[in-house]
This record gives sequence, C-alpha cells and structure tokens, in this order.
Amino acid sequence: MSNYTPPIDDIRFVMNHVADLDDLLATDRFGHVDADSIAAVIEEVGRFMAEEVAPTNVDGDRIGSKWQPDGSVVTPESFGPAYEKWVASGFGAMPFEAEYGGADFPWISAIAVQEMFTSACMSLSLCPLLTQGAIDAILAHGSDEQKATYLPKMMTGEWTGTMNLTEPQAGSDVGAVTTKAEPNGDGSWSITGQKIYITYGEHDLAEQILHLVLARTPGSPPGTKGISMFLVPKFLLEDDGSLGERNPASCVSIEHKLGIHGSPTCVMAFEGATGWLVGNEHDGMRNMFTMMNNARLSVGLQGLSLSERAFQQSLQYAQDREQGTAIGAEKGTSSPIIEHPDVRRMLMTQRAWIDAMRVLVYTNAAALDRAEAAADHDEGRSWRELADLLIPLSKSLCTDVVNETTSLALQIHGGMGYVEETGIAQHYRDARIAAIYEGTNGIQAADLVGRKLAMRGGGVIFDLLDEFELRAKELGDIDGLDRFGQRLAEAVATARHATTHLIEHGPSDVASLLGASGPYLRLLATTVCGGLLAKAAIAASNGANFDDDFLAAKVTSAKFFGEQILPTASGLLAAATSTADDLFALTPDQLR
Ligand SMILES: Cc1cc2nc3c(=O)[nH]c(=O)nc-3n(C[C@H](O)[C@H](O)[C@H](O)COP(=O)(O)OP(=O)(O)OC[C@H]3O[C@@H](n4cnc5c(N)ncnc54)[C@H](O)[C@@H]3O)c2cc1C
Repeated sequence: MSNYTPPIDDIRFVMNHVADLDDLLATDRFGHVDADSIAAVIEEVGRFMAEEVAPTNVDGDRIGSKWQPDGSVVTPESFGPAYEKWVASGFGAMPFEAEYGGADFPWISAIAVQEMFTSACMSLSLCPLLTQGAIDAILAHGSDEQKATYLPKMMTGEWTGTMNLTEPQAGSDVGAVTTKAEPNGDGSWSITGQKIYITYGEHDLAEQILHLVLARTPGSPPGTKGISMFLVPKFLLEDDGSLGERNPASCVSIEHKLGIHGSPTCVMAFEGATGWLVGNEHDGMRNMFTMMNNARLSVGLQGLSLSERAFQQSLQYAQDREQGTAIGAEKGTSSPIIEHPDVRRMLMTQRAWIDAMRVLVYTNAAALDRAEAAADHDEGRSWRELADLLIPLSKSLCTDVVNETTSLALQIHGGMGYVEETGIAQHYRDARIAAIYEGTNGIQAADLVGRKLAMRGGGVIFDLLDEFELRAKELGDIDGLDRFGQRLAEAVATARHATTHLIEHGPSDVASLLGASGPYLRLLATTVCGGLLAKAAIAASNGANFDDDFLAAKVTSAKFFGEQILPTASGLLAAATSTADDLFALTPDQLR
C-alpha cells in the first residue's frame, strides 16, 4: 500500500517555467494574487492531501459506496471526516468569484489542488469535481437569485452538485435525451425522467445536493437544439433558505464498477421533481459547452494524477524488491530490481510521460486564465484558441496514456501487481474510466478534427508548430540536447504534414477524416508535449531557481521523452493520413 508524496517542486517548476505564472499574475485580472501565496497554498494543500485524504483511498476501493433500500447512499466511513476537513479548509472555493465566497485565484492554482486531490483519492475527489462543474454552469448562466441562493454553500462544499446528462439511449449523443420538463405555472418546472451514471447523485457527505438536469420542454425541437438545463435541489428550500421538503429526485440504484468504487455512480429517477431553468429555454447544450473546457481539462488531469500516484508506488517497490543479479554486481548477490535495465525503462517511461502530461495540462490551464485576463479582444481570442485546441489533447492524451503508465507501474510489481493486496491494481482500474466519461476519447478526436483543426484554417495549430520549430533550433545549441532538437524538428514536420493533409482532404472525405482522428490526436498531442518539454528542458538547463539535482532530473526526463517517446509520433503518420477504405472493407460478419 502506498503513501502519497505531493510533487510540490514539479508543480511549481511547471507553473513558473513552462506555464509562465509570473506573466499571468502581472495581468490586471490576477494582480491581486502573488506567486508566494500560490506557492504557500500548494504546499499546504499537498500536506492536507497526503495526511488527510490519501489514507482514504484504499477504503474507497475495498469498502466502496453502498446503496441502501431507502434510496440513501453510504460512502466509506473515512470519507466523511476527510470531506468535512476539506470543506473547513476553504480550498475548494479558491478559483471562484469573491462575490460568492471564492478567493478569485487563477484556474491554474485550482488545477494544482485537483491534481493532488485526485492522486490522493480519485473517488473522493470526484465529489468536488462535479460540484465545480455545477458551479461553473450556474455562474455562467444562472440568475442572480440562483447564484446568491446556491453558490456560497456550493463553493465551500457544504452543498454538492451533479451533472445529469446521460440516459440509457442518450450517451455520446446527448441530443437524444427524453427527460421532460413541464411548466408548473409559477416559474418552476416539473421534471420527469431517468438519468444513469450520475456521479455523486446521492451520498452522505453533504446535507444538500443540487442536480443540474438536461431535459426537454413541451414542443421543443428535436436534437440538441431542444434541450434546456434545470436546477433541481434534493431538498426544496424554505423562504429563510433552510432545507425543506424532499424533492422526488432519488437514487434507485448504484452501479458496480471496474474502479472508483468509492464514487457512487447513480441511476436517478426524477418523478415530477421541482426544478428551475438555468439560462434560457433551449440553451441547455450551449450552457453545457461553456463549462465543458474546465470539466474536460479536469478529467485529463486525472490521467496525470493517477500516473503520479502509481509511479511513486512502483518506484518504491523497484527499490525494495530484490531479484537476480544486476549487471556489474557481485556474482551470487541479489539486486533490487531497479538495477535491471528493463525495469529502469519502465520507470523512465512513466517519469517522462508524467512530466509530459503535467506541462500539457498546466499550459492548457494557463491559456484558459490568459484568455480571461487578456487586455484586449485579439489577445483574448488567441489565448482562447490555444486553450480550445489543447482541451481535446489534454483530455485524450492523458487519459489514454494513464492506461499505459499504470500498467507499467503494475508490471514492475510482477505477480504482486496482479494481486490486490499491494494496491497498485486499484490505480490501474480507477484510471480506466477517464477515457470514457466527459466525452469519450473518440468524441474528443472528432472534436479535434471537426472543430479545432478548422480554427483559422489550421492557423492555430501551425502557429504552435512554428513556435516548436524555433525551440527545436534552440535545443540544438544546448550541450546534450541537440538530438532532442532533431527529434522535435522531425515530429513538428510530421505534425505539419498530417495537419495539412487533413485540412486539404478532410472536407471532401469526412469518413477518412474521422477514421484518422484518433491517431492524429495522439500524433499532435505527443508533438505538443515534446515542444512544451523542450521549454522545460531549456529552463532547467539555464538554471532555474530549483536545486541542481532536481533540474538535472528535469532535463534528463525531457531528453528521454524527446529521444525515445517523441519519435513514436512519426510512426502514426500513416494512420493519421490514411483513408477509411480498409476500416469499412469488411462486413461485421467478415470482421469475426
Ligand atoms: C463511472 C461513470 C461516471 C459517469 N458520470 C456521469 C455523470 O456524472 N453525469 C452524466 O451525465 N454522465 C456520466 N457518465 C456517463 C458518461 O459520460 C457516458 O458513459 C459517456 O458519455 C459515453 O456514453 P455511453 O456510455 O452511452 O457510450 P456510447 O455513446 O454508446 O459510446 C460507445 C462507443 O461508441 C463510440 N461512439 C459513440 N458515438 C460516436 C460518434 N458519434 N463518433 C465516434 N464514436 C462514437 C464511443 O466513443 C464509445 O467508444 C458516467 C459514466 C461512468 C461509467
């Protein structure tokens, strides 16, 4: 069973030297925040997560949340006290508006908090994560009264939130929802329907749950254009704001899952539940889109967090477990397996991918902040474009790669990895969901080639590749990093080729465009990681304000990525530029 050591220096290094935190804090928008306060918060949150939250992780897996015949859901005993301390800490409110009790910190600082929370206990972290999604939606589209009534307690975490999109026939195709909303005549609506897979739809961590529900009003047009968003509280509120009558919005069962057993995944029945419109009628989908960037980035982050936790455990195991004699060790002696080159490869691969995911996700978060803080329209637009491009890359790459990194961490444990006792298998199982929810990775790839590729006729991608090309040249001038520079230049050329091909051929052959979207996403995202790690390596070799051992490790990890992982991007060119002919050449019978 592993402890968790918060990677404070890694987070600070990426914030300061890759995501350019100082530039962000120099803007008027975030001028009230200083770098020392962010550093202090990260330090304190790290301690909190390691001491208070990480010990709940095993309970989350082994005990899990349990549905009761009265419709209530009991979370593992250790979750309650840890969650109570989280609420008392106030960390959850950090990135939100001061008007409702937040501290108005930039989003990148919330990402650091989430990274550590998820590493400590992903199952528990999902409760604040879903609440954050609901807060974002209400902030952006709720009425003043809704904001004043619900947001202060949601920001502290005293009340939690859910997102109710999915129905049995409406998964990736959200436009197929059939849940109904009928006007009650007094401004409220009566909501009837069934939602499935609702994370923390019911639980015992908070007294009140605010469900955001997508539903159709009478006479709505079909598809996404006819969907509206409703706020449905578990308990209706009395005039004085206290909890009143129970709303008929109940949990009829919870799912038995591969992982994240502590996070209740609920089937919710809305039986004439009272709700209120959030935003305008028929704007439900548009409302969802405004909060989707943050939510998708947070799910991408889960890939990083679980990779980090599993890596820490595998590194410890590799030092403790002795097997065989290492090359150069005295004959007949037993060596720790960390001395075997193949085990080293598994460790370095995890290390390099973790650094790659962290630069990607934090750069993405900084771009969201910079878009909000921009001094003028053009500057804002270019940061927003970058953030929008990076979202499907962060979400998909990190949640695909975590399956590889946690698998390597498990592999290092040998047979003990397959045995539940060591706990490493939990990370492998927990991680699997992240590629599925919040828009499957297939949907992310479709978003990349369908919406993001076309931004400024591919200009957003080409601008980024131009920047990386210059950086590849810079690497060439640094002792020991010239080969990384060559590999980066090759990957950039490959990404440019694939992007140009898809822009030219995609519109006339959409099946091939979509068929190539997955390999293209991986190709582009791997290249982006290479370009961002080059920035990290340049900063580290120029002697940033961290100790020398740490900086040397950052350079080596980036170099390993550049020389041994980045070249895999070029191997994807054929699939990223192929037609869909072979994909559809066989009938389902022939596929057998
Ligand atoms: C543990 C868990 C928690 C969840 N939490 C929530 C929650 O809190 N709220 C909520 O509303 N939902 C939640 N979900 C639902 C989740 O978002 C959906 O499972 C997900 O969107 C996929 O929908 P689906 O399961 O119906 O799969 P489907 O949509 O049936 O997809 C099946 C496969 O087909 C592919 N596919 C489908 N359509 C396309 C297309 N157009 N192009 C290319 N490929 C396609 C998908 O990529 C996937 O590989 C949760 C699910 C789980 C398992």
